[in-house]
Amino acid sequence: MELLESAVAASRVGASPEARFQLPNPAVMTEAERLLAGRTRDIRLRGELDRLFQERSWSRTAKIIRAWMTWVALLDVLTLGLNAVLLPKTVVLSMLPPACILPPAALATALVWRKPRGVWLQRISLLVGLFFILLSVALVGVSAGGEFYERHLNVMLFVAITAIIIFAVPLAWTVTVASLALAFYLIFQLQNPILDKGSAVAGTLFFASGIIATVVARRAMTILAQKTFLLELRDKRRVAELADANARLERLAKTDPLTGIANRRWMMETLNRLWSAGAERPPGNAMLMCDIDDFKNLNDRLGHGEGDRCLVKVAGIIQSSVRRKRDHVARYGGEEFLVVLPGADEGAALATAERIRASVEAASLPNPASRVSPYVTLSIGVAAQAPGEEIIAPEKLQNQADAALYLAKQAGRNRVVLYQPDLPTA
Ligand code: GH3
Ligand code: MG
Ligand code: MG
Repeated sequence: MELLESAVAASRVGASPEARFQLPNPAVMTEAERLLAGRTRDIRLRGELDRLFQERSWSRTAKIIRAWMTWVALLDVLTLGLNAVLLPKTVVLSMLPPACILPPAALATALVWRKPRGVWLQRISLLVGLFFILLSVALVGVSAGGEFYERHLNVMLFVAITAIIIFAVPLAWTVTVASLALAFYLIFQLQNPILDKGSAVAGTLFFASGIIATVVARRAMTILAQKTFLLELRDKRRVAELADANARLERLAKTDPLTGIANRRWMMETLNRLWSAGAERPPGNAMLMCDIDDFKNLNDRLGHGEGDRCLVKVAGIIQSSVRRKRDHVARYGGEEFLVVLPGADEGAALATAERIRASVEAASLPNPASRVSPYVTLSIGVAAQAPGEEIIAPEKLQNQADAALYLAKQAGRNRVVLYQPDLPTA
């Protein structure tokens, strides 16, 4: 619980933003894990998971469909050209009208699949495109007749099988293509003048078994692709969790566990960062070294636990008295807090220091054994680097703030003292 609270508190310390993966929501991730825990063959993607899978695989699927369509159109034209040279003119002329159906159907489908569109449009374009392509191949044989009749029906089945194998589309679409091809085969074979009906049906059943095996193989390939997608999601989630844990540990390492504000280590890093960022342009920074007065007496009188609670409250007061986005507060030692005010001049630094001092006093936290007041008070040493002046190294500015704090203590505590070079130092 304490660790959790520190982690939450740690989030207040400015940590570098970590790169995050775009992961689906937790419910989708739970569903992905459930599917991965079951048997591979039972994997079925639904809802958001299915949408993400389609989104991820779309460009690959579309590329394959476009290439297939273009090549089928090209081969159709080439075959027709070859036939024109090799076959008798009457046969070629009978082949020409049905062969002309294929290229526009294939190219129109390729055009639709050039960019993502609604699922329905994609589905209809693919199925209608394949309908005309298969019909065209079958009709070329039917019109030419004779030896071409059955040969082209076989070519039509071959064309359908290549589409079934290589198009990674939903199973229902694949089954539709398979049914279409077998229906064409059966219908045209039943009308084949040199074949009796029994042979037509037997031939269709023979090819049906081959096509069913192809559809099953396609389904297995799709399921394996879906499993790979689920494993990728799992990997991404694990990497994101690891990055989260690392960031959390890093924040914890830079946080003071008692007060939840930054610790000394973080402050040293911040000083280095600020000063190296302002190397070319004097930053005009200021530092406040704050120290609780007679804190030892508070511990002695009220106990260490009360002392701890007092430290938490004072840390909160200091934190809320500075500019949230620009200024930096750290617990520097036992009851000492270092505040860095980037871009603050002497006047602004003194005003902030006085606001902190007055707020702590106004909080009326008891310190009955204090020699200053019955309540907790703070002494603050201020050192400021004026803008445009020669840069003072952070260690030197800190020493100056320390020296001013020493003077504040000497002068009676519960006060703010600004460092000046001509003042006596410790
Ligand atoms: P001064 O006004 O001169 O600063 O007197 P002081 O008593 O505040 O200063 P001193 O340095 O003598 O005492 C600091 C005390 O802070 C001593 C130490 O026990 C206490 N302290 C340091 N860290 C913690 C802490 O984490 N919790 C508690 N309760 N006390 C702490
Ligand atoms: Mg001290
Ligand atoms: Mg003290």
